[in-house]
Amino acid sequence: MENKQPSILDLLIEAHVGLERQGPGSAETTCKALGFLGDLAQISHAADLGCGSGPQTLELARHVPGSIVGLDMSPDFIDVLNENAGKQGLGGRVKGIVGSMDDLPFDGESLDLIWSEGAIDNIGFEEGIAHWRGFLKKGGYLAVTCPSWLTAEHPEVIERFWSDAGSGLDSVEHNVAALQACGYRFVASFALPEYCWTEKYFAPREAALQGLLKKYPDSETVEAFVAENRHEVKLYSEYKRHYGYVFYIGQKR
Ligand code: SAM
Repeated sequence: MENKQPSILDLLIEAHVGLERQGPGSAETTCKALGFLGDLAQISHAADLGCGSGPQTLELARHVPGSIVGLDMSPDFIDVLNENAGKQGLGGRVKGIVGSMDDLPFDGESLDLIWSEGAIDNIGFEEGIAHWRGFLKKGGYLAVTCPSWLTAEHPEVIERFWSDAGSGLDSVEHNVAALQACGYRFVASFALPEYCWTEKYFAPREAALQGLLKKYPDSETVEAFVAENRHEVKLYSEYKRHYGYVFYIGQKR
């Protein structure tokens, strides 16, 4: 029987839902960022925005004593998070919900921590940190990764790639200044190491892409989708010196 031809959005979900992570990152860098947060025992309410299937949500739950809500627009990713939370005995403290990062369902000033890996650029770094600040308690922490320029040279091909994907890159200095201007104390920033892209994200994604090519052998949409993903890998290997995901950690003043 022939498979129904998938849309790009279907493919995006299908390629990513079985991966451990849906973007660059690692348990090590999640823990490194957590290390900047002071006394983790004080964190009773946290949210992980754009959590995907939530590996970092569950990592947070292993270090933070309170409740954590993982929020994502994709019900498929949220189902995986809730299933894994249950399997790992964290279902009592971790809850995945479907929602939008630019219209959060929390009470004002109710959160001790807002976490977000690989997602804030979908709504814009400055828009995100401004909207989210209202949900943090005074003294609460924000920890987000955002694709950023790492050098003063900004190759046009990279600029275009990210802008076509709906994101604009800014320098680390720009984003740190924006964080401070928005009413956060700047705590720390660091760039994710290369293995967070290559080993943790690109390699498992390539295996998933090969699965899609087998499943939909004559689909031009799948071929174009795979080519675009491989183009991203090639760009990264050629230009990684100039850009990367940067963790930004701030504290609400
Ligand atoms: N945090 C996960 C990780 O690091 O593996 C997922 C990162 S993935 C690159 C970005 C995630 O943001 C996706 O799961 C996507 O569904 C979600 N997302 C994008 N725009 C969103 C929005 N406006 N509201 C909620 N989630 C959104």
